Amino acid sequence: MIPYYFDWAATSPMSERSIQAYVETARNYRGNPSALHKDGVAAAKALHAERERTARLLKVSPKEIIYTSGATESNAIILQSLLWRPNPGRVVLSAIEHDSVLQYRRILESHGYEVELVRAPGGYVDPESLAQALNETTQMVCIMLVNNVLGTVQDMSELTRVIRNHEQRYGRRVHVHCDAVQAPGKIPFNLGSLGVDSASFSAHKFQGPKGTGFLYLRSESWEPLSRGGGQERGIRPGTEHLAAIVAMNIALEEALLTEGESLEQGALLRRLFEKSIAEEGSLVKLISPPFTSFHQCTPFIFTCVVPHIPSEVFTRIMYDKGFCISSGSACSNNASKGSNDLLTGAGIASTDAGSAVRISFGADTDEHQIRLLAETMIREARKMSSLMRKR
Ligand code: PLP
Repeated sequence: MIPYYFDWAATSPMSERSIQAYVETARNYRGNPSALHKDGVAAAKALHAERERTARLLKVSPKEIIYTSGATESNAIILQSLLWRPNPGRVVLSAIEHDSVLQYRRILESHGYEVELVRAPGGYVDPESLAQALNETTQMVCIMLVNNVLGTVQDMSELTRVIRNHEQRYGRRVHVHCDAVQAPGKIPFNLGSLGVDSASFSAHKFQGPKGTGFLYLRSESWEPLSRGGGQERGIRPGTEHLAAIVAMNIALEEALLTEGESLEQGALLRRLFEKSIAEEGSLVKLISPPFTSFHQCTPFIFTCVVPHIPSEVFTRIMYDKGFCISSGSACSNNASKGSNDLLTGAGIASTDAGSAVRISFGADTDEHQIRLLAETMIREARKMSSLMRKR
């Protein structure tokens, strides 16, 4: 295994308690929660208790929790649902959304929707630009809470205030969806205070299992992506993955209950990294905002530019030195241009975007690892730039 893991925003290692909970649940519950026999009833009861636990942790109603396979699916349920509406209108997306949202631009447009992208200079959606993007036909707005590449945090209560004011003016409801995947455990998190109608979550971003997550959804009557047994209010049919849901809840509980301590540690480590590269701006330059407060950004995710060196090349060099960092968002490495588009959406120059590497860390990271990371990045960037000068 590569010794130094700095790709927690792509996925995080499952916590020991989460792994244990998975194994125990998989061993103890063999029934399908929809089955009528004793084993099925036991699984249904356990599932019911888990839904209450998820809701309790997030201080929302159990009715508002729909278990899914993760955030890509949760985002798709919300956006794809629009395709069933008889009168396509306008959909507003922030320009720095994850690809699982942004790729709906083309799909929605091909179905008659008008899709407006709101630019987010420096990684922040501007409330005035948002207000301008809204019109009388707007049906939905999607804004992510914590950016998965820059680590910036949106002022959701201000942005939802703009949208609710607009609703009052036009007397028309606008659904506000928030991709909150990178929030739990990375900023002080209070779902209720966001004022959104739906939000997506993914267990593997907070040390739970991969392929599991949930959609927080306040309103009824949404079209599912798939058809079948009517589970999850019919919005996400298919047999529920009970062991993964239990393991996710354990991880969510750990992330939220240890929040104070771990955020403080995160801030300390982030400041240490920033201090370590401060004198070497020509070699390693931070393009995320420097960490000042959790309202502005999470300390756990940031992007640096290593000037003139393509992201993939530098990522590979660091990998050879024992570090997992990312040349962008891992999920978009399989797609077309991925996080370059996101950085351009945040107003980052394309030359910088091509040399950007994302660093993300978590609960297991310590000061020694951060110092080593900064030193190695500077040393390797220096080597590369002197090699390039000689050519
Ligand atoms: N949204 C954001 C902001 C992400 O960072 C990711 C994964 O990187 C996703 C959505 C997709 O999540 P999942 O892996 O659960 O499908």
